[in-house]
Amino acid sequence: MTYTHPNIKYSLYKEPNTLLHLDGSSEFSTTQIPKTLRRTSSKTIRQTCDQASSAMTDKVKELLSKCLQAKDMAHCPYSQFPVGAAILTEDGAIITGCNVENASYGLTVCAERTAIQRAVAEGHKKFKAIAVTCDIKDNFVGPCGACRQVLMEFGSNWIVYLTKPDGSYKETSLSELLPLAFSSEHLAKDG
Ligand SMILES: [Zn+2]
Repeated sequence: MTYTHPNIKYSLYKEPNTLLHLDGSSEFSTTQIPKTLRRTSSKTIRQTCDQASSAMTDKVKELLSKCLQAKDMAHCPYSQFPVGAAILTEDGAIITGCNVENASYGLTVCAERTAIQRAVAEGHKKFKAIAVTCDIKDNFVGPCGACRQVLMEFGSNWIVYLTKPDGSYKETSLSELLPLAFSSEHLAKDG
């Protein structure tokens, strides 16, 4: 399996401030090494990195790659802020989306909502994960509030990969991004 995005460099976000790149490099420094590893040897750290790296499945790599590719398709002549999203369905399909802006600004649709609406239209309603990315290099950026609510319509058990342009990512969850969410359960009259 090959991934074609020119900028992709698969990485695993393991701990806060700790980026482990699959190309062998890392952003570990003495102060960034987690407490549990500070008294261990570099060999042990490397073994830990290898184990963590092997845990990232090919499917996640593909999801990240498709997410980055989707960003390149964005229609954003007004904001110049391209966003890409890729959704992993329960049966293993990957559905992508990008932001689609409009001269009537309020009609703009985010990448995440483009992807979810496309997925539903193609017959998918059960999802495992979503990867999102934009051009911001220094921070992991999450979906806007509106998109979090739209994703929540299909359950709270989504894994969310906040992905930088270089392919490094932070793994979080929809329930973490949107706690105490409003859902269909609240529509029950006796609830
Ligand atoms: Zn949004």
